[in-house]
Amino acid sequence: MARYANIIIDISHEKLDKTFQYRIPEQLQAVLEEGMRVRVPFGNGGRMLSGYVVELTDTAEYDPAKLKMIQSIDKNSLAIESKLIALAAWMRKNYGATMNQALKTVLPVKQKTAEKMHRRICLAMEQNQAQNLLCEYQRKHYTAKARLLEALMENPVIDYEVVTKKLHITPTVIRGLQEQSVLEIETQRSYRNPIKRVQKKEADVRLNEMQQNVVEAIIENARTTKKPCLIHGVTGSGKTEVYMELIAEGIRRGRPSIVLIPEIALTYQTVMRFYGRFGDRVSIMNSRLSPGERFDQFERAKRGEIDVMIGPRSALFTPFPKLGYIIIDEEHESSYKSETMPRYHARETAIEWARMHGATVVLGSATPSVDSYYKAQQGEYLLLQMPRRVMQKSLPECHIVDLRQELAAGNYSILSRRLQELMTERLEKQEQIMLFLNRRGVAGFVSCRSCGYVIKCPHCDVSMSAHNNGRLMCHYCGYEQEYVSLCPNCGSKYIGGFRAGTQKIEQMVRQSFPRARVLRMDADTTKNKDSYEEILSAFANEQADILIGTQMIVKGHDFPKVTLVGVLAADLSLGVPDYRAAERTFQLLTQAAGRAGRGERPGEVIIQTYQPEHYSVTTAGAQDYEGFYEKESGFRGLMHYPPVWNMLQILSTSKKEEEAVYGAAAMAECIREKHGEVMLVGPTEAAVPRISDMYRQVLYVRHPDYAALVSVKDELEQMIEKDVRFKNISVQFDFNPMNGF
Ligand code: ADP
Ligand code: ZN
Ligand code: ZN
Repeated sequence: MARYANIIIDISHEKLDKTFQYRIPEQLQAVLEEGMRVRVPFGNGGRMLSGYVVELTDTAEYDPAKLKMIQSIDKNSLAIESKLIALAAWMRKNYGATMNQALKTVLPVKQKTAEKMHRRICLAMEQNQAQNLLCEYQRKHYTAKARLLEALMENPVIDYEVVTKKLHITPTVIRGLQEQSVLEIETQRSYRNPIKRVQKKEADVRLNEMQQNVVEAIIENARTTKKPCLIHGVTGSGKTEVYMELIAEGIRRGRPSIVLIPEIALTYQTVMRFYGRFGDRVSIMNSRLSPGERFDQFERAKRGEIDVMIGPRSALFTPFPKLGYIIIDEEHESSYKSETMPRYHARETAIEWARMHGATVVLGSATPSVDSYYKAQQGEYLLLQMPRRVMQKSLPECHIVDLRQELAAGNYSILSRRLQELMTERLEKQEQIMLFLNRRGVAGFVSCRSCGYVIKCPHCDVSMSAHNNGRLMCHYCGYEQEYVSLCPNCGSKYIGGFRAGTQKIEQMVRQSFPRARVLRMDADTTKNKDSYEEILSAFANEQADILIGTQMIVKGHDFPKVTLVGVLAADLSLGVPDYRAAERTFQLLTQAAGRAGRGERPGEVIIQTYQPEHYSVTTAGAQDYEGFYEKESGFRGLMHYPPVWNMLQILSTSKKEEEAVYGAAAMAECIREKHGEVMLVGPTEAAVPRISDMYRQVLYVRHPDYAALVSVKDELEQMIEKDVRFKNISVQFDFNPMNGF
């Protein structure tokens, strides 16, 4: 039983790490918990203040005789802050981090510095009026004014920064037009709810029987066992309508909901559907909000001014006093895992948060993560199936094309003959085409273009990566071998890293189809923050025939005119040195295929691949999730990978290589000594052995039980605290990692 408590006095303070230690009186030792609000004497005068317990400990930081004593537990101890602190404590324990890191993740911080106001410029007149004015400006050669007005006519709301930095319009010109009421300048406060400018468009849909059954089962479950629910529903099966019905049910019980959506799928279209249903009781969060803006939104949630918070991972910590549902759409997305300490997964954290609130978690995906489907099979989650698209729309027809045969037939183009034929046909019919380059993890791995063979580690069944020193290396066990110049399988010299970018593909497409209008979307063309939406809208408005892109294009918008989707090199992501490579490939292929045939006309999909027999390709082609899951979960069990086993990845970094090596070795030693029950791999160099002059060493610990890994982490934390040599070594924990270190 802990004898001391670390307490924060000012919770909205920027410096959350400012804690004060107090002694716990005997009568409170059994009842005091992390997160509780307490009354404590403060300062020399001993004035009584309220504070939050953030950590219970047995180690006194100062002379215990000099520590003051907690007076009492505050009656008002049920505040939402208490719950958030308790959640932070849970995250610290289960993912490994300092309490300060955990608190910073869950608590919105009020910034003391003055906020730079986020502004937008809006057109304040009708189009035809603006058109007349534009003619006048052009006649008088007011080029800056004309440029701005033209931009606003195309896009009635534009960021102030975009106007000054991208359109190169001076503030004087903007002010001039503002004074003449040509435009208005809005601040964050006034545009927080874009609904004001948008009319309710969507007619209320009536749920079909399949949707109705799912809604009823989830509501019944929310009344009783409150198990997490997993909706496995194909794209277009109407999951979003189900979510909205659940949210409405929560609101009737006075309980607001949180909806997590990957930021990339949080498009104008999606947001408008929620506004259309819930009006300005909806709040949207995105990563562009400043901490201050985020704080404001959280305040509104606390005051009960909103019923739905929609946003990416961090929206989970919206401090609703009560909670109905936490919905996680596209639950398989890796963006739900934090890549900074604490490296929490939003799914598991949501389940804990829901438990604390008596709320229910609803996960949804067309391609559930193997993790979640496994839990559903184990009975931990309630599984709900939505196998059909609404309105009898059929799923697209898939063809798998073997790229090895293309090479054999003398076709060196990235576009197979079949794909070229179908593209020609679609362009003639004026239907749209999406070409998708699966670029995940192109770097490094080595494969044969003649037979599709990928060089893998003999010990780990993950692909080997090419290093600059001309050797191949396995990042899981450190096994190394010479680089190969001939394929070990077929002897072909066409072996090497695959490196065709979207840009090169665009060139090739333009060459083959000179009359087609082509748009490209990738990291380069979407650097500007609105360009992502702009490209998608242009394509939606049929200003182009072909959209070429990376995984970005498989999310969000519906394009009813798209009847052909081509996946150019399906197996690129299979080469990633990661046990989740097959799962990611299956997900990407299925999601890409789901983009075809969402309108009136049925769709077709071409999957080009060097490994047509790989189960992630064949099952994606057949839209057979179950088939994929059976194979994949069998493989995971056999190889002792999650979700059948659990895995803890530990990173030791330091400016000095020998220190990073020492850190990893000392931890390995400690694990071998104290935790003989776990499986230990490493230490070895990380996939990227040095980042920003920090050397990196990794360890992998595996065991069937998560709890066993948590005690390994606890043990290491204690060891690190005692060993002075860890002073210059930083250690990071990552449970069931989504990415290698
Ligand atoms: P998902 O989220 O599973 O991809 P959506 O909820 O976006 O599916 O539904 C796909 C399309 O079908 C949307 O345009 C939606 O408005 C429409 N839709 C969903 N349910 C119904 C329904 N019961 N009746 C008519 N249209 C529906
Ligand atoms: Zn290996
Ligand atoms: Zn070969």
